[in-house]
Amino acid sequence: MDLNKVFTDLKNNFPNLKIYQNHPLAQYTTVKIGGPADIFINTQNSEEFLDVLKYLKQAEATIFEEHSSQGVLPQGSGTAKNSLQGENLTTVLGNGSNVLISDSGIRGIVIKNDSQKVDLLPENKVKVSSGTQLSYLINFTLDHNLVGLEEFAYIPSTVGGAIAGNIHGVNKINFSKFVESVEKYDDFIISAILNLKSGDSAPAKAQVQEIIQKKAAVQSMNSLGSVFKNIPNQDPTGMIIDQKLNLKGYSIGGAQISPKHANFIINNGSATAKDYLALINLIQSQMQTKFGFQFELEIKLLGNF
Ligand SMILES: Cc1cc2nc3c(=O)[nH]c(=O)nc-3n(C[C@H](O)[C@H](O)[C@H](O)COP(=O)(O)OP(=O)(O)OC[C@H]3O[C@@H](n4cnc5c(N)ncnc54)[C@H](O)[C@@H]3O)c2cc1C
Repeated sequence: MDLNKVFTDLKNNFPNLKIYQNHPLAQYTTVKIGGPADIFINTQNSEEFLDVLKYLKQAEATIFEEHSSQGVLPQGSGTAKNSLQGENLTTVLGNGSNVLISDSGIRGIVIKNDSQKVDLLPENKVKVSSGTQLSYLINFTLDHNLVGLEEFAYIPSTVGGAIAGNIHGVNKINFSKFVESVEKYDDFIISAILNLKSGDSAPAKAQVQEIIQKKAAVQSMNSLGSVFKNIPNQDPTGMIIDQKLNLKGYSIGGAQISPKHANFIINNGSATAKDYLALINLIQSQMQTKFGFQFELEIKLLGNF
């Protein structure tokens, strides 16, 4: 099965979905960097998301069956398995706020998951679809006097991304603290049940506004958040990059180590993944030379680098 056939079959099976070939991905990331997906699918609710995942799982099984019955992997471009070079056929994107996508894009299929739904359950619980915006979830729960998620204000995440990365909020509390159960298909997160507390939403809403105001002053949205992890018992990574490496504000091409926060790399308009990665490599090589170790990446690299 080749990707053209996967595309045609997808269009036939899901006539109401937005499905494109060779579709640029930069627009689906906060940092606005990244080449095209071979096939791009936008799902708008959990049912569509699950149906597409099931369909692709079946297609993937067919590709493997065809290849193993031929005894060897077929040669030539356009063959899904061949062009994927052992990667997964399917990649899921939430808000693209933690992924650096290669300039050559992502091979295979990329699903942009926009399944946004929150249902109130008894005992201060909510069931939430994985494509739900965290900001929407925070507002929704506070409007229903359910508190706890204020911690995560300003993080431009979907719920799926928040669970996959187990994000930490302003007081270093992790998202997993609130997750009671997760509905998954083939390792992809479809929805989750969260455990919250009943409380007074007025002070909680004020706290959300305060966090947003403080973070917005230093954390630029045209970024991927913190590029590197902090090291336990050390100064914050941003402080090391700023004060020990003196790299705050340094640019390569259109990418710049944020003048406001040295652990953020921002896109000044024309940055490529190559520029972004060059800054990462510069920081890593200076750390290696001066301190004998490198930082661990907090962001994920998708595609060929
Ligand atoms: C300005 C700014 C501030 C930030 N502040 C913070 C912060 O305070 N704390 C923090 O922890 N992070 C922070 N981040 C990083 C980022 O927002 C989080 O990592 C976020 O959770 C990523 O979610 P996303 O929906 O954008 O996921 P994406 O970036 O789209 O994806 C991230 C990973 O999750 C996977 N994924 C996404 N959805 C699913 C799903 N449904 N099922 C399975 N896998 C899935 C993707 O395949 C990918 O591997 C910040 C980023 C920015 C730009």
